[in-house]
Amino acid sequence: TSFSDLALDPRVLKAVSEAGYETPTPIQAQAIPHALEGRDVLGIAQTGTGKTASFTLPMITLLSKGRARARMPRSLVLAPTRELAAQVAENFDIYAKHTKLTKALLIGGVAFGEQDKLIDRGVDVLIATPGRLLDHFERGKLLLNGVQIMVVDEADRMLDMGFIPDIEKIFSLTPFTRQTFFYSATMAPEIERITNTFLSSAVKIEV
Ligand code: AMP
Repeated sequence: TSFSDLALDPRVLKAVSEAGYETPTPIQAQAIPHALEGRDVLGIAQTGTGKTASFTLPMITLLSKGRARARMPRSLVLAPTRELAAQVAENFDIYAKHTKLTKALLIGGVAFGEQDKLIDRGVDVLIATPGRLLDHFERGKLLLNGVQIMVVDEADRMLDMGFIPDIEKIFSLTPFTRQTFFYSATMAPEIERITNTFLSSAVKIEV
């Protein structure tokens, strides 16, 4: 498989090529076609496999048609730590650079003001740690009923850090019709339970 076989938006293909990527990694080759068809994806993958691009590239392609509305992000990426969320945001900027899609990074340790401003203006993609996202929601600054795509990255670390109740809450605040990409390095019973509850006919990909 080559990237050009994957039905990605041409602007995404251009960015990927400029990033120096020549061929999709196994998780990218397997996940991207299903993601573009609108399927839920359950990825069992470690860091270093190219999993970030496996959800970001189809997400950008799927979002490229609509536009952002004030306070209503169209897509949500949840990561367990500030560092990981920041890394996803950096990757998003690289892959989305030829589109007009916008993002906000919501992590702790940063003042709410700037984050509020971005949300008010409207962003396509919100990249966040679970606690900070719920802080914004509970302050009444954010609506989650416009979320079309939700990504949970490194769910096993979320479990270790005690974030599973937050994740369940966030799932239940987003529309039932959303598309979900869920990644974990392992499938602990608690992770299995969440995926059974919140994913629908997911394609399971193990790399
Ligand atoms: P990740 O597993 O998402 O943390 O990605 C690991 C590293 O691989 C990152 O530095 C990416 O920039 C890089 N990468 C992702 N996909 C590809 C690809 N298809 N070809 C070359 N490098 C890639």
